[in-house]
Amino acid sequence: MDAMVSLFRGQRVIAFVTATMLAAVIIAASIGMGSPTASADDASWTFPLSEETMTDPDEFLTLVNTDRLLTSDDKPADLVNIAARKTTSDAVQLRAPVSEALSALFDAAKSDGLTLYAHSGYRSYQTQKVMFANRLARVGYDDKLVQQAGASDHQTGMGVDVINKALIGQRFGASFADTKEGRWLAEHCAEYGFVIRYPLGKEDITGISYEPWHLRYVGVEAAWYLTDNEITLEELWEQWDAYQAGTFEFGGNDEQGVIQDGAVVVEDGALDVGS
Ligand SMILES: [Zn+2]
Repeated sequence: MDAMVSLFRGQRVIAFVTATMLAAVIIAASIGMGSPTASADDASWTFPLSEETMTDPDEFLTLVNTDRLLTSDDKPADLVNIAARKTTSDAVQLRAPVSEALSALFDAAKSDGLTLYAHSGYRSYQTQKVMFANRLARVGYDDKLVQQAGASDHQTGMGVDVINKALIGQRFGASFADTKEGRWLAEHCAEYGFVIRYPLGKEDITGISYEPWHLRYVGVEAAWYLTDNEITLEELWEQWDAYQAGTFEFGGNDEQGVIQDGAVVVEDGALDVGS
């Protein structure tokens, strides 16, 4: 009799799991067919990133570019001097949660036998203004390697240039992507909430040349989504606008089951972030 009861209970568990999976399939299907208009407090949330992520209380998804300039007053309130290894004795600053994530990233690289260096973190509006003027004077035209004041991802306190020892004191170039450290970063930075902010082939969208060294913190869920679907922060916000307009169709990478029911699910089990 006890055996019968536990068998019955077991069936109930299976039935519950099956119903949950069915719900996930229905949600996935509705994503594929396009989403109805929904606001942040709508129960019928079908955007592939969670409501918590898109509400963005910590402003990890702040988009800065030449179309969306910061002002001279914009400065993160939670800047700290980073503890991670850096290229100079000068202080490098990032927002506190970003600094923590960077240390975790560098520790992970170290355990894989690689040494990373932070070169440049937070930059003020004024610093960027001077850098842009200097670059323009030296090159003679805007070569897109230094941003105008207000347009730099570095002013968010969430952008950081990460290089290897060989690149210290050298001019950064796309060839960094082919180094051990560059490859490792591209493969693992999302696990710590970072993306390559200016990817190869997205220059028309970001307006910036490929920078395999420039990491941008966006939080773990968004980092996985952007990386697995090979989209930029600009494109994420375009998707969001479309979602709000009711015209969003999820044409992304769902083979890996990146986002299911508001959670990040990675096939190899490396990460599972609940909603
Ligand atoms: Zn940079």
